[in-house]
Amino acid sequence: MKRSTVLKKSYTNGLTTNHNIRFSLKAPETIITPPTTPPSYFTNNKIQLNVECLVRARIPTNTGEFFLHVYKNNKDGKEHLAVVYGDDFRSKSLDSSRPGENEMDRIVRGAYTGLLKPGQTRSNESNISIVSNQLPPPLVRIHSECFTGETLKSARCDCGEQLEEAMRLIQSEGRGVVIYLRQEGRGIGLADKLRAYNLQDLGHDTVTANILLNHPPDLRTYDIASLILADLGLTSIRLLTNNPDKIEQIENDGVKVIERIPMVPQAWKDKLDSNRIGHEMDQYLKVKVERMRHLLNIPESLLP
Ligand SMILES: [Zn+2]
Repeated sequence: MKRSTVLKKSYTNGLTTNHNIRFSLKAPETIITPPTTPPSYFTNNKIQLNVECLVRARIPTNTGEFFLHVYKNNKDGKEHLAVVYGDDFRSKSLDSSRPGENEMDRIVRGAYTGLLKPGQTRSNESNISIVSNQLPPPLVRIHSECFTGETLKSARCDCGEQLEEAMRLIQSEGRGVVIYLRQEGRGIGLADKLRAYNLQDLGHDTVTANILLNHPPDLRTYDIASLILADLGLTSIRLLTNNPDKIEQIENDGVKVIERIPMVPQAWKDKLDSNRIGHEMDQYLKVKVERMRHLLNIPESLLP
């Protein structure tokens, strides 16, 4: 798997002394985020990354009936997910037979075709005709976990809205996949994400806050997403994203992105009606455009 060049810059603005704080609060504002690169532990080791789908099950939602796939991998011990809509995406690792298993084992881990019904004893009672070769590349969203935005509906970011919109678009098109990666807070974890929020309340933007905590502005990687896509038989996709770094990383892994579909927040589409509470989200997205290369048109009302 090819990876891009490792970023050599080290982020040394610590919070250990008052001197460091005074020193560090000035400089990082001018730093423009370079393309994200994977952490060195991954590029330096020789372990071949692999993923395996452990189980899948039907999840009915407000935006349609999806199949949730839980993956394991040999890199980080986290349960990364694929939320799949449409019959033509099958996980190779899930469907492959396991030593010693019987039909009920296969049913319980989700390696069946069609929909289950009470009393069913065979895993392939439905004959699904897979015609994905004749269909256009599907919509895909590669989404990173955001507890505050998705579960608490925090207005600091647009993650919850992006996830819902991606599922809605996929459902309305009839097929597609959301890869859900467990890399909270652009990879720094929930505790440091909350520290970064406190720094933002002191007046720093999201990029500077990460740097003040000795993190790069964006620690996320997408190598696991690329392998999950490959496991689902997806080599060519239409990606829902504003993030050019994501496209570069997965294309380096061999995934072909034939189209980028922007994720424009509803409030920006609606030209910012005055009753909304999204002021903090607006500032957050503006920083992503200005300092993280995100591809969005900032509404005129937010420009100086
Ligand atoms: Zn978020």
